[in-house]
Amino acid sequence: MPTTRKTTPMRKKSPDRRGNSLLRVLAAACAVGLIVLVSVLMTGLLQPPNMDAIASMQAAMQGITPAPPTPEPTPSPEPTITPTPAVYAPFGAQYGFGGEELIPETPTPIPGQPTPTPTVAPTATTARTLKKGMSGSDVTRLQQALINLGYLSDAADGQFGANTQNAVIMFQAVNGLTADGLAGAQTQALLYGGSALSADEAPPMDFLLLVNRDLPLNQNYVPMDLVVIEDVLSDDIVKVKYKGTQANRTAVEALGQMLSAAIADGVDNFQISSAYRTYADQQQLVENSVADYQGRNPSWSRERCLSATYQTVAPAGTSEHQTGLAFDITVPGVSFSGTEQQKWLHAHCADYGFVVRFTEEKQSITGFLAESWHFRYVGVEAAALMTRNNWCLEEYVEHMGS
Ligand SMILES: [Zn+2]
Repeated sequence: MPTTRKTTPMRKKSPDRRGNSLLRVLAAACAVGLIVLVSVLMTGLLQPPNMDAIASMQAAMQGITPAPPTPEPTPSPEPTITPTPAVYAPFGAQYGFGGEELIPETPTPIPGQPTPTPTVAPTATTARTLKKGMSGSDVTRLQQALINLGYLSDAADGQFGANTQNAVIMFQAVNGLTADGLAGAQTQALLYGGSALSADEAPPMDFLLLVNRDLPLNQNYVPMDLVVIEDVLSDDIVKVKYKGTQANRTAVEALGQMLSAAIADGVDNFQISSAYRTYADQQQLVENSVADYQGRNPSWSRERCLSATYQTVAPAGTSEHQTGLAFDITVPGVSFSGTEQQKWLHAHCADYGFVVRFTEEKQSITGFLAESWHFRYVGVEAAALMTRNNWCLEEYVEHMGS
C-alpha cells in the first residue's frame, strides 16, 4: 500500500509535470511557428510588390503566350515560268510556217533598208566571187568589211577559211540574201555599200524552232551564229568525233557548262558524234542508207529502200541537226543507253537548257524513234517547263506557241 501511496503522488505528479513540459514545448513550438508564419506573411504582404519582376513576367508572358506569328510555311513556289509575250509570242507566229519562212528562198528586200547605192556596183560587178579556199587582197578587204560589221572576229589575214565562210553566211542570212557562203557580186555590193545590217541587228535565234516530218526546214535554211565546237570547248570537256563539227554558239556554251558539271560529278568521257548538219549532209545520209538497203536487198525498189531508210533516218529538211541546236552525245566505243553518262545527262540536261528530244513515250507525237543520245537545246526556261509538264517540243509549241 505505502508503495502505492508513495508512488501514487509520484504518479500523479509526473503526468502533471509531463503535461506542463509538453505544453511548454508546444507553446514554444507554436510561438516559433507563429513567428515564422507571421514573418513570412509580413514579408509577403508588407513587402511592396516587385514591379520590375511583374513587368518582366508580363513581358515574358506576352512573348510566349501569343505564340510568335509562325512564319507562313513558305509555300515552295511552283516555279511557274510566265513567259513574257515579248519572248514567246513571235515564236508562235513562226511555227505556223514550219520554219520555211525563216529565211526566204529568194532575197527579200528588208523593209526600211535602203538598197545598195549604185556607186559601188561597178566594183562589185568586176570583182570575182570569193569562196572558201581563196586568198588575196580582195579576201582581206572582204574580211575587214565583215569584221567592221561584227560578223567576223578573226584577223583579216587574206585567207578565206571556215570562219570567213560562216561570217559570209551569217551576213547573207541577216541581210536577206541566199546564205550560200559565196561572196559574189550581190553580196560584195551590199557588204561594201554602207547600208548593210550589222551582226547586232540579227534577229534573235529561235531556240524553240520546231522541226519534224510535218514541219521541214527549207533547204536554204542556215542557222545563225555557228561555231566550230573544238574552238569553244577543250578536249578535256568533250571529244568531237568529226573535226570541224559546228553548232550554235549559245548551245555549245550551254553544252560546255553541262558537261563540265558532269565531270565535276565524276562523270566524263563524252563525245559529240554529230551536231549541225546541212540539208545536203542529211540528204547524203539518206542516200547512203538507201544504197545500203539496195546492196543487201537487190530486188527492192528505191521507194522500198527509202521507206526503210526513213524508219531511222530523217528525210532531208526534217532533221533537227539542221538547226544547229541538236547534239548527239555519246561515249566512245560503247552503246550510250544505260551508261552513267546517259543517266547523268537525262537527269540534269534541263538545268542547262537541253531536252531529250525523242523518247519512247512521245514517239507517236515526234514521229521519231527514241534516241537517248539526241539532246536539243531549247533554253533553260523552256527546258524547265517542258520537263515539269512532261511535254515534248511539239506539245510545248502546241501549248505555248500561240
Ligand atoms: Zn541526233
